[in-house]
Amino acid sequence: NIDVFTFGETMVLFQAEQMLPLEYVHTFPKLVGGAESNVAIGLARLGHSVGWFSKLGDDPFGRYIHKFIRGEGVDTSSCLFTEKAQTGLLFKERLSPEDVNVYYYRKNSAASLMEPADLNEDYISQAKILHITGITPALSESCYQTVMVAIQIAKKHKMTIVFDPNLRLKLWSAEKAKEVFNEIASHADVILPGLDEGQFMTGKTEVEDVAVALMGEQDKTIIIKLGSKGAYLHTKHEKAYIEGFPVDRIVDPVGAGDGFAAGILSGLLRNDPLPVVVKRANAIGAIVVGVSGDVEGLPTLPAVERFME
Ligand code: ATP
Repeated sequence: NIDVFTFGETMVLFQAEQMLPLEYVHTFPKLVGGAESNVAIGLARLGHSVGWFSKLGDDPFGRYIHKFIRGEGVDTSSCLFTEKAQTGLLFKERLSPEDVNVYYYRKNSAASLMEPADLNEDYISQAKILHITGITPALSESCYQTVMVAIQIAKKHKMTIVFDPNLRLKLWSAEKAKEVFNEIASHADVILPGLDEGQFMTGKTEVEDVAVALMGEQDKTIIIKLGSKGAYLHTKHEKAYIEGFPVDRIVDPVGAGDGFAAGILSGLLRNDPLPVVVKRANAIGAIVVGVSGDVEGLPTLPAVERFME
């Protein structure tokens, strides 16, 4: 049985060991990178059962990703392996701690072949929550269609739909991203943009105006991430800034958003009041930025509670 269903592309991540232009880097520790699998691992660590789906290449990198994510306690039983394409790769260049560039080798990857027929409705509908990121629809037309069919399945089974935009302008045009983000947002119950993504989607500047525009005429929960300042929570009945937790030393800002999303999903599953949900998500984001790597810092529930004290 699963509580959350999420799906997307996870790549093997080769992280430059030396802080140099990529052409001068000799060694690349091999890691795993993918927003949806980060969220899935975060949820598993917080004690939830979560299903992550992807199409992986039938190659050593695909098997590595599969074993890694399964090893973290995520249900990967719905994953498919294909011989038609290879697993996507990603190289990360570090010129300074703040100046990080990514180089993708993911065009026409195995994951980009995901299609609506790959979705198993009986499996997905066990979950209470469908988690969607804005990366998956950017991968290909069939991935976009897969996202839209997953949303239909979630609606049919009265699942909660949570949308985290995760804008990646290397994957598609701003124009197309904006159109698709707003389409997905119109179906979502909970939207988790960073302020910059919310501004991008709505054309508004102020936090509160962004939230009002994202809400539109519908009843949604909007949670806008504000980095070190925490987050802004906006529903029909509640409007509140939820303060972030101070971080002594930022080691690696990447992955905070995914940890934050795992915290939100976990809190929703626990039926906690929304301000409590957002506060715990802020704590997880703050913990993650203090640890190197996307998933290494993701805490267990007792660890978050200790941190919050
Ligand atoms: P990512 O870089 O992973 O894509 P994001 O842009 O989606 O992240 P952020 O606003 O950077 O999202 O971070 C998500 C949450 O993590 C914030 O809302 C906040 O709660 C927490 N967080 C991030 N950075 C810091 C920080 N420097 N100090 C304290 N908390 C932080």
